[in-house]
Amino acid sequence: MYKIAFVTGGSQGIGAAVCSLLAENGYYTVIGYNTHEAEAKEIADSIVSKGGFAVTQHCDVTSEEEISDAVAYVESLGELDVVVNCAGIVGSGQIQDISTEQWHRVFSTNTRGTALVCREAAKGMISRHRGSIVNISSIWGLFGASCESVYAASKAAVIALTTSLAKELGPSGITVNCVAPGVIDTAMNKCYSHEEINALAEQTPLGRIGKPEEVAEAVLFLSKASFVTGQVLVVDGGFTL
Ligand code: NDP
Repeated sequence: MYKIAFVTGGSQGIGAAVCSLLAENGYYTVIGYNTHEAEAKEIADSIVSKGGFAVTQHCDVTSEEEISDAVAYVESLGELDVVVNCAGIVGSGQIQDISTEQWHRVFSTNTRGTALVCREAAKGMISRHRGSIVNISSIWGLFGASCESVYAASKAAVIALTTSLAKELGPSGITVNCVAPGVIDTAMNKCYSHEEINALAEQTPLGRIGKPEEVAEAVLFLSKASFVTGQVLVVDGGFTL
């Protein structure tokens, strides 16, 4: 019997690295994607070519219906053991310039999307008395970020969701944890200039920004850690020290 993992936002960046690592570690991995279908399929092909198991599934996390269908599809393959909520978008700007639509868009993806995936996945996990959920927050969700209030608030809510669900689902044998990455080299940070990235690296005790694979290692650990729940694991090279 395979252990099944479902990763939202698995088509690129951190989510793609998580999919590859989970598959390397024996999980039948369902790669959730929204707009990057070809990239998701490439990741699945690469996993399969190495002897692993992976399929892709469209899942726009702003759509309640798509989340419900995606989780039902995953459960049709076998028992869902691990859920990783990687899907996320940035939102920046000064508070006076952030539109109501932008608040809705960022929260709908980062917070509501994560919560609805947890809800749908929890149903089967509760009945089996087994499962682990790993949510991706951000160091900005812990410490706040000037001109990124909408993003930071959406990620702080993911932390509160995580700790709440850890308490609620613990008695059902389900762990719920969170990874809070620092600055990681993905498309999300392409808005920064070379100089800005260098400045961020200089502020980091380890002297560089992180790689998606380094966040994936933390996700793998939390997905397997049977006596760890409600934790926020910071993966930032010491940036927030
Ligand atoms: P990328 O921009 O590289 O990837 C974002 C992923 O989210 C893509 O796979 C994208 O899917 C998916 N996504 C976006 N909107 C939706 C949606 N509506 N429904 C489903 N999937 C969606 O970013 P990262 O890999 O860097 O980010 C991954 C997570 O890590 C995010 O939650 C982000 O907030 C968090 N994070 C990132 C940090 C960083 O420095 N990079 C730091 C801290 C946290 P598709 O491409 O198919 O549309």
